[in-house]
Amino acid sequence: MSQIKTIGLLTSGGDAPGMNAAIRAVTRAAICNGLNVKAIFQGYKGLITGNVVEFKSQNVSNIIQQGGTILKTARCEEFKTVEGRKQAYDTLVHEEIDALVVIGGDGTLTGARIFASEFNYPIVGLPGTIDNDIFGTDSTIGYDTALNTILDAVDKIRDTASSHERLFFIEVMGRDAGFLALNGAIASGAEAAIIPEVSTEVDQLEEFIKQGFRKSKNSSIVLVAESEITGGALHYADRVKKEYPEYDVRVVILGHVQRGGSPSAYDRILASRLGAASIDALLDGQRNVLVGIENDKVVLVPFSKAIKKDKPIDPELIKVLKSLSI
Ligand code: ADP
Repeated sequence: MSQIKTIGLLTSGGDAPGMNAAIRAVTRAAICNGLNVKAIFQGYKGLITGNVVEFKSQNVSNIIQQGGTILKTARCEEFKTVEGRKQAYDTLVHEEIDALVVIGGDGTLTGARIFASEFNYPIVGLPGTIDNDIFGTDSTIGYDTALNTILDAVDKIRDTASSHERLFFIEVMGRDAGFLALNGAIASGAEAAIIPEVSTEVDQLEEFIKQGFRKSKNSSIVLVAESEITGGALHYADRVKKEYPEYDVRVVILGHVQRGGSPSAYDRILASRLGAASIDALLDGQRNVLVGIENDKVVLVPFSKAIKKDKPIDPELIKVLKSLSI
């Protein structure tokens, strides 16, 4: 029999569309299983300051379609200190919260892992990030929506790019991961993607130019993943201006538009499934695991594995992009 009577729930790190759907799923699944739910506002910051509110089923009504997170999110440096985490633990004891569900990215899960082992405290994590950079899950909550936002933008830029015969470098988010750039490029029919995962192996700009930029097309679009490793879209635009001054180059940095908006059907379903599974996992005695999706099945991945390993890019995707962009 599980000793868990009350769960705490928080969102942390970068917000992602679908976090609200996950909040709804966790809350309702918990209540459905006879548990109390306490919502912690502002991520780990709220855990330290005691920003806690009891949630009933109606607190999560009418949010499945909303982007962002009703629980707010924050970056919290204090949680990286032992003193900060001790304060967070004191809040959990004071509020009589027996287990935590955290929704966030790599940093959030890292914090959860450290906290869980330090205080021997049960936590399960849900992957909430548009970057899709968490090992052990095929997709993260928010990734599909962000990808669709990118497509919408690139389709519009394509109209103007082809009218003017221009080369556009479009920078997309990804936090040192190329999933949004690569799959965004495939889905939008872009000519190339510049991603950090292969930056040290090949000069991706040289490859793209050599492959015949403008030979058969009147415009080109290259998606660039934001990253210190790639240098971002401005870096490549500067290079082209210097090395190939004959090209008419433009830069678009999509920025935070990629984080907003109503979550896609895929993200809502993913968030609902993983949210419900997080409660099953806790009641089943699971601890310190990420609840992910693999081959359309819910999987539990130990934090240690989900955080430590870099999620690899499938080389087949790079091949597909190259062969279809001739
Ligand atoms: P994301 O979860 O989207 O990757 P961050 O990397 O900003 O976002 O992490 C969110 C929060 O997780 C941080 O503000 C911090 O409170 C906590 N966190 C991140 N890394 C650590 C760490 N090494 N130790 C403890 N807490 C951490």
